[in-house]
Amino acid sequence: MHMLSGVLSPSVNELKQFSSSLKGCLKRESPMTELRKLTPHSAIPAEQARRDSRQRHLLRTFLPEMIRLERVLAEAPGQVTVKTLSRVALKHIDLPIYRVDLGSEAPDAPVVMLVGGVHGLERIGSEVVMAWLRNLLARMSWDGHLQALLKKVRVTLLPILNPGGMYLNQRSNPNGVDLMRNAPITAQDRSAFLLGGQRFSPRLPWFIGDPEQGMEAENQALESVISELLPGRPFSVALDCHSGFGWQDQIWFPYATVVAPCDGSNR
Ligand SMILES: [Zn+2]
Repeated sequence: MHMLSGVLSPSVNELKQFSSSLKGCLKRESPMTELRKLTPHSAIPAEQARRDSRQRHLLRTFLPEMIRLERVLAEAPGQVTVKTLSRVALKHIDLPIYRVDLGSEAPDAPVVMLVGGVHGLERIGSEVVMAWLRNLLARMSWDGHLQALLKKVRVTLLPILNPGGMYLNQRSNPNGVDLMRNAPITAQDRSAFLLGGQRFSPRLPWFIGDPEQGMEAENQALESVISELLPGRPFSVALDCHSGFGWQDQIWFPYATVVAPCDGSNR
């Protein structure tokens, strides 16, 4: 018994050696290094490497959706493409606008495009796009029907178009501009007062900004995708996911014609 414990118990020197080699390993293999090696999507570790620990804490607190999105994308199969379209600068942190592509690369394949988070308060829009993305990624390896479909159809997703607004928990982008009112053309007919877009102040809702001087960075990113992706295709559909109108985050799909949010009954 005594002999056996002598064989199995490491000496003090052995323990010291083990401890120093473990420290060396931990130094060399930071979590970032491991992620960079593991994921085929270099955009994700590149964005994460830009953040220090304080910024990571801010992101976890104010935009946890971005953390979840990056986790999902880091684990996405290699045939999925992930790009950083643009970055939105806030006081303490820069936030990426990600574009995700999967499916057919044929120039005449129909495109299904989903956009989420245009209005930062309407977090459900991003949740819907991210839920669909997670579903697609999980099924890509085994679902023959989906694999056949993706040979014919291109899917493009912008899950968080307005990360600055979502981080600040406000409808507009960080410049106070409502991205759905920020267009370089104006309505030909009379639009609703204020609601149709206003130029008085970014402190009031529905502020148009100054689109004649160039649209906001988020809309430029969106426009670059649309003008690159959609022309010349026989059919495309783009769905912009919001979450209703009002002070509460609500989901009305597919019954957006009724005043009350869906109550789960068979309406
Ligand atoms: Zn909205």
